[in-house]
Amino acid sequence: MPGLTSKQAQERLRRDGENELAAAAKLHPLRMFLGQFRDVMVMILLAATVVSAFLGELTDAVTIILIVLLNAILGFLQEFRTEQTLESLRNLTAPTAAVCRDGKWQTIPARELVCGDVIRLEAGDNVPADAALTSAAGLAVNESILTGESEAVSKQAGSPEDTRNDLHKKNIVYAGTAILRGSAEATVIATGTRTQMGQISTMLQDVQQEMTPLQKRLAGLGKVVALLCLGVCAAVFLAGVLRGEPVFDMLMTGITIAIAAIPEGLPATVTIALALAVSRMMKRGALVNRLHSVETLGCASVICSDKTGTITENRMTVTHVIAGGEEFSVTGTGLQMAGAILQEGHGVNPASKPALRELFTCGALCSTAEIHSEAPQKSQRNRSARTDRGTWSVTGDPTEVALLVAAEKGGISRKQLLRAHPVQRMEPFDSETRRMSVTVSDGAGTCTYWKGAADCILPLCGFQMEGGRVVPLTEPEKAVIRRQVLTLSDQALRVLAFAKQDGSACIYLGLAGMLDPPREAARTAIRTCARAQIRTVMITGDHKNTATAIAKQAGLLRGKKAMTGEELDALTDAQLDACLDQYAVFARVNPAHKLRLVRAYRRRGEIVAMTGDGVNDAPAIKEADVGVAMGQSGTDVARQAADVVLTDDNLATLVDAVEQGRCVYANIRKFVRYLLSCNIGEVLTMFLGILMGMPVVLLPTQLLLVNLVTDGLPAIALGLEPPEPEAMQKPPRKPDESFFSDGLMGRIFFRGILIGIGTLGSFSVVASMGGTLEAARTAALCTLILSQLVHVFECKSEQRTLFSMRYGNNLWLVGAVLVSLAVLAAAIYVPMLRVIFSTVLLTGQQLGIAAGFSLAVPLCSSIFGLFSGKRKKRDC
Ligand code: ATP
Repeated sequence: MPGLTSKQAQERLRRDGENELAAAAKLHPLRMFLGQFRDVMVMILLAATVVSAFLGELTDAVTIILIVLLNAILGFLQEFRTEQTLESLRNLTAPTAAVCRDGKWQTIPARELVCGDVIRLEAGDNVPADAALTSAAGLAVNESILTGESEAVSKQAGSPEDTRNDLHKKNIVYAGTAILRGSAEATVIATGTRTQMGQISTMLQDVQQEMTPLQKRLAGLGKVVALLCLGVCAAVFLAGVLRGEPVFDMLMTGITIAIAAIPEGLPATVTIALALAVSRMMKRGALVNRLHSVETLGCASVICSDKTGTITENRMTVTHVIAGGEEFSVTGTGLQMAGAILQEGHGVNPASKPALRELFTCGALCSTAEIHSEAPQKSQRNRSARTDRGTWSVTGDPTEVALLVAAEKGGISRKQLLRAHPVQRMEPFDSETRRMSVTVSDGAGTCTYWKGAADCILPLCGFQMEGGRVVPLTEPEKAVIRRQVLTLSDQALRVLAFAKQDGSACIYLGLAGMLDPPREAARTAIRTCARAQIRTVMITGDHKNTATAIAKQAGLLRGKKAMTGEELDALTDAQLDACLDQYAVFARVNPAHKLRLVRAYRRRGEIVAMTGDGVNDAPAIKEADVGVAMGQSGTDVARQAADVVLTDDNLATLVDAVEQGRCVYANIRKFVRYLLSCNIGEVLTMFLGILMGMPVVLLPTQLLLVNLVTDGLPAIALGLEPPEPEAMQKPPRKPDESFFSDGLMGRIFFRGILIGIGTLGSFSVVASMGGTLEAARTAALCTLILSQLVHVFECKSEQRTLFSMRYGNNLWLVGAVLVSLAVLAAAIYVPMLRVIFSTVLLTGQQLGIAAGFSLAVPLCSSIFGLFSGKRKKRDC
């Protein structure tokens, strides 16, 4: 199929636009910047500033406008960076399509498809555009997304002229539907909004990112705090006016308190923290499709994981073969071609062992894998190995690759076999039937080779090979074979049985056992989960004994048992719920069992992360709280149903993502703790000052300065804290747990009150020792800012004191605090800024008082924490 040239494709892309239902409406940077001024309070402040400028307070007005501008720039930069992170994520998870361009098959982003492109579709793919089938083999499609009917629809190629795009046509596949079985080639006839999906779906146009539960909760909290603040501001304003302060000045003061204290940036800061976590996870190989999932990941209490490739390395090596009643071992590991077939320690030539030769022939023919002796292509799917017999590259399923490698070691080559026995028909491996077959030409006629799980192959067989002869296979002999399967499985080997159908006789050929060791990283990850009280459960299509042996090696069994899908079928839901706790391995399961298990765990109130890769895994992935798909072995359908895609298919990456999920929640708690206690401190300073009959403690420009240096950079830097070592040593958080659990609210209020009292203390002591009002205000300004900059370090951890804190693990925070300190110093020591912020140079004594009031509280609480911590340790 020739397809289009790149040039033609480019022209059509320009003419027709991208193959997308609705390009996510991108916010123009200018609108994003102007959006920073949406806040009503900021608008009122700006209006009041303009009025004050007319009244002659020009310096104040310019300062206020500059600070508001600076705040807006900071807000804009944060939002812009968040948007960019999310955008790059959207691009990474965008669907792809296999297309023939310039006569070559290539994979391109699906949005670049144009009419006339020739595409290839396989089981598990999502159809990227409406396309007319030009060839199809056993194609079945799920069109429920378009028609609502979940029955699979079979499709065939039609005449090349019949390309009218109507619904329910047999020769047309529609964008957004999923290929369940078979494969096909097709020509694209409609893209983007011109597809059937684009025409009927208005729902999908709205691709807005929904707020996560935490964002919603914090937005609600922000509103409550805002109302409280407004109440206090009104009180400050009234009290000031009643006391005879100028009305306009009090209005400005009231508004600036509101601006300084209302945590209007809270939801935005949460989004930034979540988006940064997403980009950190992305770098480590976990693509998170929804911000939502970052939070849920942190609550995961059960991880249901596949075995092959996720817990194991997915590098299979055939180590044992039983054929014609004789046992053989195979040396060499992985893709190394150097190796031999041995019997009792001596090399064997399969040519002299008909059953062994037939078994290898079956393994080599009944396969979709390939090995090439030429230099390996640079493709990610290919694995290569340099051996003393040259460089080889392989493609395909590792189980099948292992069989090809073993056959090569016995001198049997798939390429040569295919020349003599061309394939007539193939029934590909299906993880539900657990077997596959190929029919090949054999002399004048044909014969069919079968391979698959022993329990699925043995029932087919009525004969076996003994020496070179075909003899009947009796029931007692089948029982012996089943015992052999158990023995091999107990050694953690995946066991496959082989058979050959010649005419009406189905001849059993033998067994091969292959090794697939657990990944070292997965073992560590399982240990981490155990410490974090997250249960890891293995769910696999493999044999119970193989799964149990691997689970033992991976450290996952921990006194628990294994259950097969058949045993699971025999249980009612109530029985399953009662015994679920006792099992850590579910073997020989199919996708329906996975769904049942997810539901059972969720009934118990667990938060379940479930991995999957096949088309049929999609329901279980969707049902799980965190659906996880495999990036390498997974199908489009699984990937699109998933919340998280693991680019390296590795369990360790998932556990890492869970840790990041916990970390981001902890970080959000950290900066909420910081922001709220500081804001309470600011409001109280002003409120109590007025109530106690003091002059206005801080001027509007000073309050805005406090807001600028304490709320912006340090709060964001707290969101960048790395996970604490304790993060994975405590049980998962309940999703409905209060955000302020463990006495956080009390701590916030207590510290806020102390910051307020400290600031007032500094103000009054400096004033009572003969300082001017400006000096008292400057001292209060220093105390308020310094206590917040010290407190930000306390917020790094809920367990550690200032003395045991690790300062070096987040240099952003140290940098942010230094910048804030420099700004404070500049506001006092730069003459021009002194005019702007109405500050004065402080004497050594006054500075000492200001610093003393800022440091007294954190030092006392750290010393107290140190003692109570030591006592707690002793009690333990
Ligand atoms: P998971 O990845 O979930 O751990 P799995 O890889 O262990 O699953 P499947 O790939 O569904 O499970 O394999 C189930 C069984 O089917 C295997 O135990 C094996 O006996 C058989 N099998 C696996 N791959 C093939 C294949 N390519 N050809 C024939 N039989 C196979």
